[in-house]
Amino acid sequence: MVKENLQLVEQNIISACEKSGRDRSEVTLIAVSKTKPVSLIEEAYDCDIRDFGENKVQEINEKYPVMNKDIRWHLIGHLQRNKVKYIIDKVALIHSVDSVRLAEQIQHEAEKANVIMDILVQVNVANEDTKFGLKPEETEDVIRTISKFPNIRIKGLMTIAPFTDNPEDNRPYFKNLKQLAVDIEEKNIDNVTMDCLSMGMTGDYQVAIEEGSTMVRVGTGIFGERNYNKN
Ligand SMILES: *Cc1c(COP(=O)(O)O)cnc(C)c1O
Repeated sequence: MVKENLQLVEQNIISACEKSGRDRSEVTLIAVSKTKPVSLIEEAYDCDIRDFGENKVQEINEKYPVMNKDIRWHLIGHLQRNKVKYIIDKVALIHSVDSVRLAEQIQHEAEKANVIMDILVQVNVANEDTKFGLKPEETEDVIRTISKFPNIRIKGLMTIAPFTDNPEDNRPYFKNLKQLAVDIEEKNIDNVTMDCLSMGMTGDYQVAIEEGSTMVRVGTGIFGERNYNKN
């Protein structure tokens, strides 16, 4: 099932790239494996997927030791400061940095572990009360502050668009995030690039790619519906 799903997702990515005149190589597919067992992750791995997304520190810590070391783990969920130390040497990219305080903690742990941590800054482009993320208008200031941290490299922006049945509803939010990235890039802030735009999930990744996404985070479309009630 994972294999067939991945083929379909791949085709959708290719057609979104063609439609918007982009090269397939500009878009990374992150398979969001949260709540899913290692056996399914291995199926995706066997189809050459190397980027996996998780939203819980504990789950990364359970899966990391038993999976191949060439996997790039992406932390895509809200990160508590006291948990940074558990993932600092395991994840390739933290997508969900939404405060200077969290960045300070990442700096502290990255320095101790002697690593440079790549991060994205999460922006709440739709201004939803229920979502984490910075307001668009405060994003540049926060980035300027974090850019001074020597063990952190800011690689771009991430957003979680509203849940909707019609992906076209989210096109304006994706456009806004892209524009914000372009505006910040133009400021030429030291230690900051806007190469990565993490936007688009199962319901809207094609629209997100048409609007410039470089990382789509697809869970349900690859692994099927999640069941949160099994413990
Ligand atoms: C769960 C999750 C996804 C994947 O959602 P699907 O709709 O299953 O594709 C993407 N991004 C974040 C931040 C998530 O928490």
